This record gives sequence, structure tokens and C-alpha cells, in this order.
Amino acid sequence: MNPQLMLLLEIQDLYLQKTALLEEPGFDSVQEKHFNIDPRTAAEALDEKIEELKEGLDPAIQLRCERGFPTLGRMVVPVIGGVCYGCFVSIPTSRVGDQNQGVETCESCGRFIYAPR
Ligand SMILES: [Zn+2]
Repeated sequence: MNPQLMLLLEIQDLYLQKTALLEEPGFDSVQEKHFNIDPRTAAEALDEKIEELKEGLDPAIQLRCERGFPTLGRMVVPVIGGVCYGCFVSIPTSRVGDQNQGVETCESCGRFIYAPR
């Protein structure tokens, strides 16, 4: 898998966890009660890590990330059976074939796409 794509998946994971910490109803109280973690402190730590990882991204990908994550949430989606799992539109399989070429995006929704093994 393209190293940039692996980095993106890692960033996405941290981002989605941060979102869950701050937005999921009841999630923060459970965390605080059982694990003694303040969700806001935890979210800040995730944010720091996200910023750190983002520095490893190409500037164009970084920019797309900054625009995409707040509105789309999940920015990196699989293509299965020729269908983008971000918007469920068909994508020519040739576009996700060789992932060493670079990071591909869905023309319909703009998300980063990858073919799972
Ligand atoms: Zn799409």
C-alpha cells in the first residue's frame, strides 16, 4: 500500500476516535467513569498526534484532508466490487489498480480510495 495512504488511514483512525470522544452521546461519561479519562484531554492528545502525522503528508493531500475531514468524516474509503464505499458510485477498477502510483481519489465524492487486500 502507498505509504501516504497508510498515513492517511492512521490519521483517519485518530480523527474518528476524537470525533467519537467528543460527539457520541454517553461515550464521554462512560470513559470518564470507568477509565478515569477526561475526554477533552484525550481529544487534545489525539489532536496533537494528528498534527504530527499530517506533517508526513504531501502538501496537496494535507490540504484535501483539512477540507475533507470536518465535512465528510471518513475521508479514506475502500473500493469493493468497483464501488466507492464513500458515495456508492462505480469507479473504473483501473483507477485503484496500482497503488504504488499514488493516492487516488473518487471523482464523485472526493474521498481517498483504496482497494483492500
Ligand atoms: Zn466516492
